[in-house]
Amino acid sequence: MGEKLIQVDVVSLFILAMILISQFSRKMSRGTTNKIFITLVVITLLSGCADIWAVTLDNMKYPDLGVRQLSHFIFLMIYNTIPPFFLMYVISLSSAWAKITAHKATCTLLILPYTAVIVLLILNFSTGCVFSFENGVFVSQQLSFMTFLVAGVYLIVTGVYLIRFHKLISKRETLALFLMIPLMGGVVIVRLLAPETMVMVFSTTAGLLIFSVMIQRPEKIIDSITGLNKYIAYADVMKKNFLVGNRVCIILINIANYSSLYKMLGYDKTRALLRTVSRRILEQNRIAKSHGTAYYLEQGKFRLVINSYNLGTADKVAQLINEALCEPVTIEKSELSIMACICAARCPEDISSFRSLMAFGADFHLKLPYKGEVIRADESTVKRMVSLLSDVDDIIDRAIANHGFHVYYQPIYSVEKKKFISAEALLRLIDENKGFISPEVFIPAAEKSGAIHKIGDIVLEEVCRFIASEDCKKLGLEYIEINLSVSQCMRSGLSEHILKIMNKYGVTPDQINLEITESAASYDQNVMTDNLNQLNSAGISFSLDDYGTGYSNMYRIAALPLKIVKLDKSFVNNQNSKMMTILHNTVRMIKDLNMEIVVEGIETEDMVKKFSDLQCDFIQGFYFSKPVPQAEFVLFIERSNQNARFPETKRT
Ligand code: C2E
Ligand code: MG
Repeated sequence: MGEKLIQVDVVSLFILAMILISQFSRKMSRGTTNKIFITLVVITLLSGCADIWAVTLDNMKYPDLGVRQLSHFIFLMIYNTIPPFFLMYVISLSSAWAKITAHKATCTLLILPYTAVIVLLILNFSTGCVFSFENGVFVSQQLSFMTFLVAGVYLIVTGVYLIRFHKLISKRETLALFLMIPLMGGVVIVRLLAPETMVMVFSTTAGLLIFSVMIQRPEKIIDSITGLNKYIAYADVMKKNFLVGNRVCIILINIANYSSLYKMLGYDKTRALLRTVSRRILEQNRIAKSHGTAYYLEQGKFRLVINSYNLGTADKVAQLINEALCEPVTIEKSELSIMACICAARCPEDISSFRSLMAFGADFHLKLPYKGEVIRADESTVKRMVSLLSDVDDIIDRAIANHGFHVYYQPIYSVEKKKFISAEALLRLIDENKGFISPEVFIPAAEKSGAIHKIGDIVLEEVCRFIASEDCKKLGLEYIEINLSVSQCMRSGLSEHILKIMNKYGVTPDQINLEITESAASYDQNVMTDNLNQLNSAGISFSLDDYGTGYSNMYRIAALPLKIVKLDKSFVNNQNSKMMTILHNTVRMIKDLNMEIVVEGIETEDMVKKFSDLQCDFIQGFYFSKPVPQAEFVLFIERSNQNARFPETKRT
């Protein structure tokens, strides 16, 4: 047999070193999959070195056979760890890693073939059953096929796993992984047919290069600002965790004041802030030894996924992170406070589906009051919120199908006419299982899912039916206010749609007033402006709802076809002297713009008096009546307007 060539191995070492450097320079060293991939590259690199050592000794006909035997032993021992690590890599890509490693029997079964090869290689020192040296030349012996057989077993298990769990691995990844099988299988064949050919390390290197390009793609999963994994990686991992049934803890960190910080700091300084936050999270993760993987999902939202089901551990890390984030961050000499809302949850116990995790994570910081403490998802309020959020789409669909939505009316009192002249239509959802669900929960969910358009139609039809009814006609009401959500305002063809429904019931435009919110008013969108202008030309008037809750663009508000401005309850409830001055001037400004004013959220007689004196036109609030079903509303108006005077007693 001629000399074996080591050049291919040397090229392999060069490529492997490049893969390793690129892996670290692309910050892909965290997380189980990256760690296993790096281990695979290092093992292949070591086996390449061992191969070069063994082959060089063979080529030199090195006289000390003990050393040569040791070199081949080391090479085979290292090289044979590649197939089991390849299997581990595939398992980790499918996110079933925690589940499989928790199963002792499966782990033992998977390690068994490799252990058998190692035992065989050790026995080879005394028996020479795998390889030996005849006249100083390396010769494979009868049991040498065993090492290839074991590699073959691992490859078959890997192939079966890939087919069985193909749903957990993307098509691109599956293709790359399947390419490894013929590469390694080819080595077995070449090795059996032409043992002197040195392709073992090279073929593995080729496979790893394919993985590096097709699977280990940082631009896909690493956030360039924080260096943490991106939303796509988080969504991928959590989807798989729910699918496989992995039990994990998750810490959700939402920076509640992210948008104001961003507005204040601008792009570059916000990047620096996010980097500090991610550094602090990683530091606490390391201190607590929780081995969590951190993600950054944009908009000031961080996640830490811990492969342990102990809420106590998660709670401890969450507390540490909370303390660390309470410390002000210094960005270019200015000290900034971060309002980090942190929640520790178990999946699937506290949050049982991917959909509810995403819905809860999106805005729990807006729905749960910020107290500066870690929120535990096993608290009852959080549990109810999670369960509502996860089911809200189904509840809405059910309510649409089973006529589960009810329109209630809240009367609006005219200060000048001293009677109720209109009402606001407010939607109610009472689910047979979950009970009363606030519009604050189902309206945003319906906006996200698109169900808002159907819901909007239900409200409009119901209100039109009521206006056209004899019951309503005898009440002498001037108009009914209907809330329009932002996405309804953006819908093309909205005006034709609304006018069509009104025509169906013979309702005239002056009988309807549409409420748009301050946030909708701040969108300077063509479709919306067109919609509002078309409806306005048809004779429908608009109210600006929730005035005083946001940052109104006065120019935009003045440009909109508004007839009424509704002062929000949070605005009018603040009674200090500065606020009174603001209120005074606000009322004057609105009046100067020739608009009318409704004050909302009036609960006491004092407030009725105060806002009447302030020359507000209309008053709405629990002082007169809560929103009530149609029949109750009709009775209320009949009774109150008969007297046509200022109601003196509180009626609810
Ligand atoms: P909104 O349009 O600002 O409605 C006024 C809210 O204030 C109502 O809450 C009403 O029950 C409440 N309210 C009225 N008077 C008082 C008071 O004196 N004290 C207090 N504490 N609250 C008072 P509700 O019914 O829970 O509705 C919440 C929001 O849901 C509404 O805010 C509106 O934005 C939305 N919404 C309700 N129905 C519809 C609908 O049919 N379509 C759309 N797009 N949104 C709706
Ligand atoms: Mg309203």
